[in-house]
Amino acid sequence: MDYDVIIIGGGAAGLMCAATAGARGRRVLVIERANRIGKKILMSGGGRCNFTNLDVAARHYLSANPHFCKSALARYTPADFIALVERHGIAYHEKELGQLFCDESAKQIVRLLQTECDAAGVRIEVDCEATAVEHDDDGFRLTTSKLGTLRCASLVVASGGLSVPSLGGSGYGYQLARQFGHTVLPTRAGLVPLTLGGTHLDDFAELSGLALPAETRCGKTAFRAGLLFTHRGLSGPAILQISSYWHIRDALAIDWLPDLDAHDYLAEQQQAHPNAELRTALSAVLPTRFAQRLCERWLGSKPMKQYRPAELRELAARLHDWPIVASGTEGYRTAEVTLGGVDTRELSSSTMASRKLPGLYFIGEVVDVTGWLGGYNFQWAWASGHAAGEVA
Ligand SMILES: Cc1cc2nc3c(=O)[nH]c(=O)nc-3n(C[C@H](O)[C@H](O)[C@H](O)COP(=O)(O)OP(=O)(O)OC[C@H]3O[C@@H](n4cnc5c(N)ncnc54)[C@H](O)[C@@H]3O)c2cc1C
Repeated sequence: MDYDVIIIGGGAAGLMCAATAGARGRRVLVIERANRIGKKILMSGGGRCNFTNLDVAARHYLSANPHFCKSALARYTPADFIALVERHGIAYHEKELGQLFCDESAKQIVRLLQTECDAAGVRIEVDCEATAVEHDDDGFRLTTSKLGTLRCASLVVASGGLSVPSLGGSGYGYQLARQFGHTVLPTRAGLVPLTLGGTHLDDFAELSGLALPAETRCGKTAFRAGLLFTHRGLSGPAILQISSYWHIRDALAIDWLPDLDAHDYLAEQQQAHPNAELRTALSAVLPTRFAQRLCERWLGSKPMKQYRPAELRELAARLHDWPIVASGTEGYRTAEVTLGGVDTRELSSSTMASRKLPGLYFIGEVVDVTGWLGGYNFQWAWASGHAAGEVA
C-alpha cells in the first residue's frame, strides 16, 4: 500500500477528514486538482468564512433522508470547531442568527486546516486530479494526473458538488459513486438567485439593486431575511434560502411587510392622514422606489379616506401574500451548494462508509445532505469529514 487513506478533494470536508485520520497515525494523502486547497473556503462568507452556526440541528438540512445527518452532527458539533478556531487564535464574531465569521479573513480557516494536516503528517498534493479508480482484493488503485497510480486501503470521496465550477465544482464524485453501485439522487442548484421571465421581469427590472426585508414562502417553508432585486430576478438571503426548497413551476409567495400587520397599519393611516395617498402611506414602511412601483403597476393610489374597509383588507392581504412566478435559477455558476447527490441510504450515518464497498467513504457536499445558508454547510463538511476520519 502506498497510503492507508487517499482523499479525493482538498476542500473543507477532505481536509478535516485528512487531519482526523492523520492524527490517528494513518498515512494520508489528499489530492486536489486545483492549484491550491480550500478555494471555496477562501471565497466564502464574503471572504470572512461563515464557518459554523451556534444552532445546528437536522432541521437546518435538506435530504431525502432527513435523519441521516444527526449522528455525525452530534459527534462533531459547532462547539468542537469553535474550540479548534480558538486554539489557533482566530478571532471571530457572531453576525446574526448564530452565524460565526472570522474577524479578519477566510484565509485563516484554510491555514488552520493546513496546520492541522501538517501536524498529523498528511501529504497534500495540489494540481493533482483523480482520473480513475479500480478496486480489487488489495484495496483501491487510483490513477492521478500527477502522481501516476497509487494504492490505498481506504478511499474517501470529498470532491464536492457541481456548484461554482470555477471553484472546483465537479461531478467526479457522482461518477465514482455510480461506478461502485451507489444511487445518485438527482442534483440541482441550491442557495441560488432566482430568475424572473417576461412581464414579471419587466415589472421589477427598474428596481435592480434595491434591498428590503421580506418573508419568502414555498409550500410550508418560509424564510424571513433580506431580499434583493437583481437585473435578472431576485436574490438576497431570503431568496437563496427558499431556492433550495423551490422546484421549477412551484408557487412562491412574498410577504413584503413581514414585521407589520398591514391591515392595522393602513387603517391607522386612514384615521391619522385621511388625505394622504396610499403610495405615501406605503413609502413610510417600504423603500420609496418600491412603494411607488407597487402602486403604479398593481395597486393604484388614491387618498386613504377613499378606501372602503373591504379594499383595505384586500390590499393588506396582497402585501402579505404576493405571488411570484420564477422562471428558473441562476444555476450552478452561482449556486452556493448542490442539492441531491450520493443517496444516504447506502452510507453509514456514523462513519460515512459505503454499505456497498468496504473502505469507500463519501463526505461533504457530494452526499445528499444540504444545509441552509448560515454556516450549516461547512458544519456538515467538518462533521462528516471528522466522522470518516475517525475510522478510514
Ligand atoms: C461562493 C460560496 C460561498 C460559500 N459560503 C459559505 C459559507 O460562508 N458558509 C458555509 O457553511 N458554506 C458556504 N458555502 C458552501 C461551502 O463552500 C460548501 O458546502 C463546502 O465547501 C463543501 O465542502 P466539500 O469539501 O464537500 O467540497 P468543496 O469545498 O467543493 O471541495 C471539493 C474539492 O474537490 C476538488 N476535486 C473535485 N474533483 C476532483 C478530482 N477529480 N480530483 C481531485 N480533486 C477534485 C475540487 O477542486 C475541490 O477543491 C459557500 C459556497 C460558495 C460557492
